[in-house]
Amino acid sequence: MARAPEASALQSSRDFGMPPLAATSYRRDAQFLEDLRELLAEIGQSSKASPLAPVCSALAAQDDDALGEAADRVLAGTSNDSEAAAVPLLGAALQVYFTRLASTLETKDLEGVDVPTICPACASRPVASLVRLDPERPSLRYLCCSLCHTQWNLARITCSSCESDKGLQYFGLEGADGKPDRPAWRAEACDDCKGYLKIFYQEKDPHADPAADDLASLALDLLVDERGFARSGPNLLFHPGGG
Ligand SMILES: [Zn+2]
Ligand SMILES: [Zn+2]
Repeated sequence: MARAPEASALQSSRDFGMPPLAATSYRRDAQFLEDLRELLAEIGQSSKASPLAPVCSALAAQDDDALGEAADRVLAGTSNDSEAAAVPLLGAALQVYFTRLASTLETKDLEGVDVPTICPACASRPVASLVRLDPERPSLRYLCCSLCHTQWNLARITCSSCESDKGLQYFGLEGADGKPDRPAWRAEACDDCKGYLKIFYQEKDPHADPAADDLASLALDLLVDERGFARSGPNLLFHPGGG
């Protein structure tokens, strides 16, 4: 059962217009290490023959302080290349923990945050954006939190990093025949800040999933990187330096 943040903490984040679960400063309780150790045991057990098993057992052998510090580095984006294999496991446990906490929040807890490019619940950057298939509110674009899975609205054709609405370009993959490959996948790249983030269109693929499709479309990252743009939000299940 999720322990909700203290009412006084929620009130003070409202007073200051801060996301209530600001991830890099939030004091995680013991539940996080329980989540992580449970996930390591489950994955270690179910993938005994895979290269993940030794990574799970090496992580499980670490003490609580070392695991907490490694998780802090994942949140800060400062993991070492030597721990690249552990990043997806730590990232998955952080997602479980913060998603459960975010699910205890009410809309009013999120309303005071006026920086539209960070998650109103946990202050993380989005992993991608999604144009939802919603007959009542067609074609609205939502940014999708890389940590707690909260989705929030941002106008279309707006940079999700610097909020510029000029000089945005959209890149997609092409098949060998020159026709668009995977039309539901695009990268939205900004000439002002040289950042990019992917945007997925449910009208072209109703099953588009921002976190999973982001990992499935690394070819699109390569294409946009080559044109001089840098990714503006992380995917916690992937350590970029670790390839
Ligand atoms: Zn979030
Ligand atoms: Zn920009």
